[in-house]
Amino acid sequence: MNDDYYELLGVSRDASTEEIKKAYRKLARTLHPDVNPDPEASEKFKRVSQAYETLSNADKRRQYDMGGGPGMGGGGGFPGGGAGFDFNDIFDMFAGAAGMRGRGQGPVPRQRRGGDVLRRVKIDLRDVVFGTEEQVTFRTAVLCERCDGACAEPGTSPTRCTACNGSGHVQRVAQSLLGQMVTMAPCPTCEGHGDVIEQPCTSCSGHGRTPSERTVTVRIPSGVENGTRIQLRGEGETGEAGGPAGDLFVELAVTDHEMFERDGDDLVITMAVPMTSAALGATIPLETFDGSQEIDVKPGAQPGEEITLKGLGVTPLRRERRGDIRVVLDVAVPSSLSEEERDLLEQFAALRGDESTRRRGHGPFAKLRDRLREF
Ligand SMILES: [Zn+2]
Ligand SMILES: [Zn+2]
Repeated sequence: MNDDYYELLGVSRDASTEEIKKAYRKLARTLHPDVNPDPEASEKFKRVSQAYETLSNADKRRQYDMGGGPGMGGGGGFPGGGAGFDFNDIFDMFAGAAGMRGRGQGPVPRQRRGGDVLRRVKIDLRDVVFGTEEQVTFRTAVLCERCDGACAEPGTSPTRCTACNGSGHVQRVAQSLLGQMVTMAPCPTCEGHGDVIEQPCTSCSGHGRTPSERTVTVRIPSGVENGTRIQLRGEGETGEAGGPAGDLFVELAVTDHEMFERDGDDLVITMAVPMTSAALGATIPLETFDGSQEIDVKPGAQPGEEITLKGLGVTPLRRERRGDIRVVLDVAVPSSLSEEERDLLEQFAALRGDESTRRRGHGPFAKLRDRLREF
């Protein structure tokens, strides 16, 4: 195929470089594949471009004029593999810097990553102590079983978009005060995908995924905190057109326990023991997550004193040894006394030489004090 380059560009043999450039621009605007989807136009555009490449370079033009033919002087074929020939350069000449956004990017793939899913799960303190498993159920998108994510009805396949020749974008040339403005825009026919699904899958309407309810079993390790998020990769929403699935995030909400409070790996409980038990000593049962335990209150125990039950607390996230249960003693003083109890306590006080409230007098202050105590 030995084209006459001058004829191709429609210029005379003695045309100036400026005239050659002008002629090429004019042709490119009608032949470029982004504007003209016709394969013949695309073929002609390649030849025109090769002609321009040769004739716009003084050295190559001289060689061509002397009968060197195309490809001499290093240019080579177009496109792809043409050393020293930058397709973008030609377009930038008249496109302007702003007009060529998206140039060089291929069609936009249909596949897209699915969205992440966040679900809150309530667990209680027992689950924190030992770890647990929870079933998380949520509405999401799953891979379409009919087309397996291909989007097209089984037996059919997407066809190359004729509007953009499969490139996924079209070029718009507009006149402006500054001259020609060339902008790239996603092809409206194929939405930038470069191909068109003529028969979308009937099950997913061509999205490759369908809405569904899923249940995922989540292993919750011991030692987690309120607000901890567990990430399960690829367990979220399936992507468009069989794209990769998003992640499932399970956020844990630990409900308060009526008795125990967590302090790191320890569980803390405040236990009110009767004044007499604190004084005389006692064994008091305590229901723990490991069954009933006996709390041994030593005679003379003081308020605020701690009794430790080793290894009955939380199993930390990455360690073997469990925390403890710490029992904080609170001494309950009776808020009201019967006549008999009062007498006995008076005797007890007298025995110990303690000051008795009764002996303190019957004045207005004592009365007030007694009344306040009743509240
Ligand atoms: Zn489908
Ligand atoms: Zn298109």
